[in-house]
Amino acid sequence: MLKSLISARVLIQGLLGFLIYWLAVKFHINILYIILFGSLLGIVFGKMFCRWICPVGFIMGLLFKLQKDEIHQKTYMYYKAGCPIAWVSGWLNKFSFLKIKNDKEKCIKCGKCDKVCYITSINSDFSLYKPKKEQPFTQYSCSRCLMCIKDCPTNSISVTLFN
Ligand code: SF4
Ligand code: SF4
Repeated sequence: MLKSLISARVLIQGLLGFLIYWLAVKFHINILYIILFGSLLGIVFGKMFCRWICPVGFIMGLLFKLQKDEIHQKTYMYYKAGCPIAWVSGWLNKFSFLKIKNDKEKCIKCGKCDKVCYITSINSDFSLYKPKKEQPFTQYSCSRCLMCIKDCPTNSISVTLFN
């Protein structure tokens, strides 16, 4: 169920992004309220707004996908300064109720998670499974794409909320 949801992330982001845009135009919602909403969402989910809701992020992702330029897409995701929502919610990654965990007992060290994650594939200081490396989940850059969960064959990486 969760993996199907992650597979549908781009579609979900497109729909939610359109909804946000439509609501903002229809009800003349001030952009500051949207920034506040996205930032507060960070307390619960961390930097999830960027990859699951943001209409601008949706368009950027689509452009990179059309170019089939994976390296540039990963580099963009890793380094992008983003907007105030990204700054606040990225910082909240350390404290959010949503947490990503790796059960080392189940891990077979296949390396698929590190390959798909744009943080670990660009910066070798980070790893989702290697010992003595920093975990990428709590970093500013992790926008909760959850691809590490989707690609893990043993389900050793999981996400928890309020736990
Ligand atoms: S994808 Fe899963 S099993 Fe493979 S190294 Fe990562 S955590 Fe371990
Ligand atoms: S959710 Fe997983 S794959 Fe995505 S950026 Fe964070 S650690 Fe990397």
